[in-house]
Amino acid sequence: MKNREGRENRTVDLHLHTTYSDGAYTPAEIVMKAKHSGLTTIGITDHDSISGIAEAKESGKTENIDVIAGIELSSSFDHTEVHILGYFIDYNNKELLDSLTEFQEERLKRAKRIVGKLNQLKIPLDIDTVLEQVKGDSVGRPHIANALVKNGHTYSYNEAFNKYIGYGRPAYEHKWNFSPEDIVRLIAQAGGLSFIAHPGRSINEDIIFRLIKAGIDGIEVYHPGHTPDLIYYYQGIVNEYCLLESGGSDFHGASQGDEHTLGQYVVSKATVDMMRQRLFNH
Ligand code: AMP
Ligand code: MN
Ligand code: MN
Ligand code: MN
Repeated sequence: MKNREGRENRTVDLHLHTTYSDGAYTPAEIVMKAKHSGLTTIGITDHDSISGIAEAKESGKTENIDVIAGIELSSSFDHTEVHILGYFIDYNNKELLDSLTEFQEERLKRAKRIVGKLNQLKIPLDIDTVLEQVKGDSVGRPHIANALVKNGHTYSYNEAFNKYIGYGRPAYEHKWNFSPEDIVRLIAQAGGLSFIAHPGRSINEDIIFRLIKAGIDGIEVYHPGHTPDLIYYYQGIVNEYCLLESGGSDFHGASQGDEHTLGQYVVSKATVDMMRQRLFNH
């Protein structure tokens, strides 16, 4: 007999991107893809944008997919970029919306700085070509990578990162200096729960414990970048510090080569119930 945590209930993916940030599919397309992958609940987590949530919720109603309002925000600590996921946010919250406008403006300034560095490297890319790739309100390096490929400056999306715009490459530019604590506060005042996104990528224990002190609600334990050992390690931290766990595919689609990961990085409905319980007790 399978219990509540059985495989059949692991139909929740809490980390998905749409065209409103750097994903290839619209919210309606994501809902359809999620449905065809056997998912029942999804979290829309665009970078610095809430614009896809209402559309996804609308499609979710017709397709019987539960859509959780989410977001992925960037912060930095000691030159490390720390991504934080927010769930169950009030996406009409004024302070949140004002901050998103600011983050989106910072993104545009950074994209211009990156284009400037590329020009210095004798790559004649202009910002308008980059902005043609942007369908939503958050310009990011994936749009620059796509523009580099489209104009024949690199053969592939990955080459663009490896050669020019990836971390430590010659046209890399850091993001803004909002602390992880600021981001946790921003999400909390918008009524949401905050989670450390994909800590396996670059987050050390110091940062994790700093965020636990700052009131983070949980850790994204299940992510394509996490090995079984890392998953076990994060499960241990979650249990020891009474945190919540979350997980998802970090699906972007198309150029980012994750076309087949939908439905493979999942958590159970019981996990979402625990999130709702925590919100209720806040
Ligand atoms: P940005 O938010 O502008 O720094 O862009 C970061 C986004 O680019 C991430 O959310 C991923 O979607 C993608 N990305 C980051 N690093 C890489 C990489 N090394 N190769 C491919 N895609 C990447
Ligand atoms: Mn992304
Ligand atoms: Mn991220
Ligand atoms: Mn993401």
